[in-house]
Amino acid sequence: MYDALIIGGGAAGMSCALVLGSAGKRPYASDKKIGIITHQKASHLQNALFNNVLGVIPGTTGASILESGKKQLTTLYPHIEQIEREKVSDIIHLAEHFTIVTNSRRYHSKIVVIAVGYTNLLTIKGLAKYIKPHPRAVAQEDRIWLKNDHHLIEKNLYVAGTLAGWRSQFSIASGSGAQVATDILTLWNDGKHTKVHDKITE
Ligand SMILES: Cc1cc2nc3c(=O)[nH]c(=O)nc-3n(C[C@H](O)[C@H](O)[C@H](O)COP(=O)(O)OP(=O)(O)OC[C@H]3O[C@@H](n4cnc5c(N)ncnc54)[C@H](O)[C@@H]3O)c2cc1C
Repeated sequence: MYDALIIGGGAAGMSCALVLGSAGKRPYASDKKIGIITHQKASHLQNALFNNVLGVIPGTTGASILESGKKQLTTLYPHIEQIEREKVSDIIHLAEHFTIVTNSRRYHSKIVVIAVGYTNLLTIKGLAKYIKPHPRAVAQEDRIWLKNDHHLIEKNLYVAGTLAGWRSQFSIASGSGAQVATDILTLWNDGKHTKVHDKITE
């Protein structure tokens, strides 16, 4: 049983995983089992080229960010389990947890974060009832969002990134994933607001 399972290894999902990982030594997070299904084939980062993102060297490709993101997570926060080469097909809401069905296995988690982008979600059963036309994309593009209140769809079920209703910019999607991570950390910290900052030590 995971305490939190993130679905999607793009901008929002990886950012959420990194922030959750960075809280690994905090008392309220140290005993938590966290995983991410790092499916990246369908990420909008695959074809992106970045010149307009603060802190990212101009000319960086989205594909290289996908690759380096997974390495960053493995190196710095190895306690976050990365589940590769699996695609989610169903999310079943049970009384106290969720069951996540992939093409090869089933997982169970108390908290689920959906970060699969704003296009092909219709292939995930169990989420259909939350799908609405995207509020911040041109209608002709047929984008969707999962109706939510500040990223929360319902208790313990979060959505992050473009699928949460945000416009498609790398920083916005990443920020949305980071926001969800701090919401989850705040929940684990008995509602006391929390953030994770590293600093230079002399
Ligand atoms: C060509 C292009 C150029 C761009 N250029 C810029 C730019 O210059 N500046 C900028 O700021 N933004 C740019 N963007 C936008 C940026 O890439 C997106 O805003 C960002 O990737 C959205 O992040 P996300 O996490 O919402 O979705 P994504 O990054 O698309 O991530 C979704 C993830 O979910 C996974 N997934 C999907 N279905 C499933 C499933 N069933 N099970 C498990 N996992 C699943 C996907 O494989 C993917 O890894 C560009 C996008 C494109 C397409």
